[in-house]
Amino acid sequence: MLLARAIMEKSDHVFLIGEGAEGFAREQGLPFEDAAYFLTEARVVEQTEAKKRRAIGLDHAQEGEGKLGTVGAVARDRWGHLAAATSTGGVTNQSRGRVGDSPVIGAGTYADNVSCAISCTGVGEHLLRTSLARTAALFIEYRGMSAAEAAGAAIWLLVAKVKGQGGLIIVDRNGTCARAYSTPAMRTATAQNGEIRVATT
Ligand code: ASP
Repeated sequence: MLLARAIMEKSDHVFLIGEGAEGFAREQGLPFEDAAYFLTEARVVEQTEAKKRRAIGLDHAQEGEGKLGTVGAVARDRWGHLAAATSTGGVTNQSRGRVGDSPVIGAGTYADNVSCAISCTGVGEHLLRTSLARTAALFIEYRGMSAAEAAGAAIWLLVAKVKGQGGLIIVDRNGTCARAYSTPAMRTATAQNGEIRVATT
């Protein structure tokens, strides 16, 4: 987050990746962690198993209690400003150099005060191929759909076009929240006017 903010505020760019991003972070004096900081036993086991099977996959598509993975958030403040954020480890056993949908504005994450804020999860390649977040925002902006209609229509399109596995959460400019997904489940929670609601499927 610190690096994203520094890129926004202190560079002429929107998006830096790889060595260039790292170099920029060092120039800005941002804190670094050792690689070991990012390793957990569960993830190492998951990665080793996936390598053996020569498989890639969504960590949260696994059975049982291990449904931890991407966290997305969308928010509208009292002045109507909209924001979206998506945090992910990508997919298990992904190739070096892979960029998923999460950081790509318009694919996995999107926010514009005129329409809505959106965060997606799922197979990044499917979400990139359909520009899913921007597509859902366009449904609201130019077709006048409600948040729920746009979420449903975007997921319908994801499945129809690329047999996509994914989900998204939306908050629109009026503060209405919606979600839709083609994965077996997607856990969400909303906080509106002091009321918190949790959906576990
Ligand atoms: N969308 C992420 C990616 O493909 C994975 C996820 O949502 O869990 O990198």
